Amino acid sequence: MTNLLVSCPSCSEKGYIDVSEESLKDVKRGLLAVNIPPNVICSHSFIIYIDNNLVIRDYFIADYQFQIEIPVLDTLGEKKDVIVPEKYLVNLNLIKLNVSANLMTYILKSIFLKKKVLIISEETFLNNIILNFFKYITQDNFYLDISMISNENYKQEKKKYKDYMVFEGSTIINNVKKLINPKKLAIEKDIVHRFLSDMDLNSSLLVLRNDINKIYLFSKSIVDAINSLDKKEKINILKINKSLEETHNVKINNLYLEFLVDIVRNYFEINVPSIFESFHDLL
Ligand SMILES: [Zn+2]
Repeated sequence: MTNLLVSCPSCSEKGYIDVSEESLKDVKRGLLAVNIPPNVICSHSFIIYIDNNLVIRDYFIADYQFQIEIPVLDTLGEKKDVIVPEKYLVNLNLIKLNVSANLMTYILKSIFLKKKVLIISEETFLNNIILNFFKYITQDNFYLDISMISNENYKQEKKKYKDYMVFEGSTIINNVKKLINPKKLAIEKDIVHRFLSDMDLNSSLLVLRNDINKIYLFSKSIVDAINSLDKKEKINILKINKSLEETHNVKINNLYLEFLVDIVRNYFEINVPSIFESFHDLL
């Protein structure tokens, strides 16, 4: 057993946790995710990611109490035996070690909002690696516009990037129209955590890409359903969801549906009524 000093990302309370050598054996590449339940360090619960030198690389606060149910879609070929081309895997551990869980969450959210992303970073050797990673996971689905800049250049050219979501480390530097609400990122965080905590590089990347493909497919299906409606017919998101579930033989819970509705509004720019409104319309 190894004692590890942990400090809570919410309240800074410090305490020790035990990590077994056994669990670290497999962390040759990537990170070991350790869940800290409430009342171990303090009243909060959070996740830490440890590298194979027992260094805590990242903290992550999950803002949900339960495991989120992400619908499983057979038709998408969610197979783990697909081999990802080596060029996407060679540097994947660098992504896991250098792109923080929060940054990855914010970038995913920006992609779902169809916003351009700018990362302030001095580590230029990572630029292409990060770019290729996001290209791979958004291939054939979401539009991607991501670039990197040094701190000094950003200071000089700030005005040019007014409509970009700008991030530095784990911090949001420019939040366009306050579209990112850090307290409402449950699905994004869940996806990121599953990616970071899966120590098999191939399957972690594959599952991540499947998750994003699925989000695109579902939100696009909602858009198609709306477009096929009679012009006079009022959009009812619950009705649409029901037929979506039947077509794809899945169960879509309200949290996930709300997340999809957000994408329909922001990414596809279609104004749809909320689940709540749709529920009342059905009464
Ligand atoms: Zn705390």
